[in-house]
Amino acid sequence: MKRREFLAAVTRGAALAGAASQVSLPASASESAPETSQEQVGVLVDTTKCIGCRKCEYACARANRPAGADVKEFNDMSVFDAPRRMTPESLTIVNRYDNPQNPERPVFVKFQCMHCLKPCCVSACIVGALHRETNGSVSYDAGKCIGCRYCMLACPFEVPSYEYENIYTPAVRKCTFCYDTLQARGEAPACAQMCPTNCFTFARRDELIQLAHEKIAAEPKTYYDHVYGETEAGGTSWLYLTSLPPEELDLLALPDKPVPQLTESLQHGIFKFGIPPMLLYGLLALAKKVSAPE
Ligand code: SF4
Ligand code: SF4
Ligand code: SF4
Repeated sequence: MKRREFLAAVTRGAALAGAASQVSLPASASESAPETSQEQVGVLVDTTKCIGCRKCEYACARANRPAGADVKEFNDMSVFDAPRRMTPESLTIVNRYDNPQNPERPVFVKFQCMHCLKPCCVSACIVGALHRETNGSVSYDAGKCIGCRYCMLACPFEVPSYEYENIYTPAVRKCTFCYDTLQARGEAPACAQMCPTNCFTFARRDELIQLAHEKIAAEPKTYYDHVYGETEAGGTSWLYLTSLPPEELDLLALPDKPVPQLTESLQHGIFKFGIPPMLLYGLLALAKKVSAPE
């Protein structure tokens, strides 16, 4: 942790100590999250079709830009020289990977919030600023957020980022699944609409899983035999087809069991007995480490 981040964490920890006595714990994610249903939507990402054009990144930046802000085309391909992480300005990113099967054709993978079925971020948030919608989108309410950033520690996919540069109204940022805008009108997310090679299929999650397995069966030489997100961390709304083993593409090998049950019991127990929030940071980090694969 950088010095600035450490100081921010201490400050937020002190603020949280006061806030903790005033808040009531939301219902736990593992108790309240609906199981997969016909309402549950998702996106199937076929990484074998991706050409690394970054149009999806551009579409996301446009969809989430502040009112009146201009967004230039994303033409800089030097960004692929090193792996990137999501930031408050980049809610989705595409990374490039070597392809041992075909060195002339690298593999590109788009990352964003996975919109988990049992989201750890929701269970870790003590004020209910993160919420799982009935269609599977995980929404964020900046008005409720107290900036504790437990969600960032809890997320097994290391997705949420924080607006450290925004000193007045800092917020947690992550992909919204375009829930309040496009999905509300029954449309696919902005990133999925702009892809020129149709990497994305937006549909009901159960249909996507069936489609993914059909594609694997039809083209076993093209696809690695695994639908990433079908079971990882309890299942996710964003699902991936890959040509290589997912862990070679930074799609983390995670246990099938949802992690929230562990973080919830720690969090609820700690606040019940008044243990200081800074200790909770350490325990949540430990819980995440313990739940991670070797
Ligand atoms: S990927 Fe992380 S931020 Fe997104 S829903 Fe899952 S736990 Fe929450
Ligand atoms: S679903 Fe919307 S917010 Fe999420 S990565 Fe795509 S465009 Fe961005
Ligand atoms: S728009 Fe489609 S082809 Fe272009 S980088 Fe994104 S996922 Fe890949």
